[in-house]
Amino acid sequence: MSFSNLKFADADKDFKSAKFIILGAPFDATSSFRAGARLAPNAIREASWNFESYLLEYDIDLADIPVCDAGSLEEHGNPDDFVNAVEEAARKILTQKKFPILIGGEHSLTIGAANAFENITVIILDAHMDFRNEYLGIKNSHACVTRRVSEIVGIENIICLGIRSCSKNEIEDAKAQKLKYYTVSEIKKKGIAEIIKKSKLKDKIYLSIDMDVVDPAFAPGVGNPEPLGLTAQEVLDCIAQVAPNLVGCDIVEVCPPYDNGNTSVLAAKIIRSLIAVVWKNNY
Ligand code: MN
Ligand code: MN
Repeated sequence: MSFSNLKFADADKDFKSAKFIILGAPFDATSSFRAGARLAPNAIREASWNFESYLLEYDIDLADIPVCDAGSLEEHGNPDDFVNAVEEAARKILTQKKFPILIGGEHSLTIGAANAFENITVIILDAHMDFRNEYLGIKNSHACVTRRVSEIVGIENIICLGIRSCSKNEIEDAKAQKLKYYTVSEIKKKGIAEIIKKSKLKDKIYLSIDMDVVDPAFAPGVGNPEPLGLTAQEVLDCIAQVAPNLVGCDIVEVCPPYDNGNTSVLAAKIIRSLIAVVWKNNY
């Protein structure tokens, strides 16, 4: 891990005393359209200073919650090395019974994270199905995340929310393997909290937020923007619903070179809200 002076706002506790550990994972070597996600951890850290430490919505002051910003992993050029480095770092955090908040970088980091947990449901918020078996010859590509994670936790222990893009092959494979996925229009009809409530979930839930699940109107600066997405509020509703069972999360695919600033600000806001709501529900 490398340390810089730039920390996520109000994440000033040391590793030992903290319950939440923020870790940056800068990597974008498998980007298929817009590169730049490796710059996201620090862009999101910078954006986090925009906010008051007190969160009106939850009547909680982040300064009162033990959060540590542990810095960022070193940059890797090879996706397999990157995934292994994420797994190793996540294991270290979990061994100490802490809650990892991983900031990508590309979505491939979720593969490493999933490897570090036992017996979990993984909820993936994503515009894309990411269900290719390989992409441009790379198995740990960000286009293959759901597929790889399904091999780790079991296809029945994944729920994909906000999907609105995939290839014909992906949908055929997803249906054959009974992947549980909900499109944006289904979510608009049923409500995201209601869908989660009715899903069969394990006691431990890991949440992966690919920022492109959010409509580009709210989150324009992502690697693969896909119109007609979820609102930012729906993402927060999802977090509130799973909070009592949440054991870790990631937020990935913010792409600062294509951002007007709003995407990093929203990512920072989502992280801050998640910390508050998980803390309130569990500690
Ligand atoms: Mn993705
Ligand atoms: Mn995506």
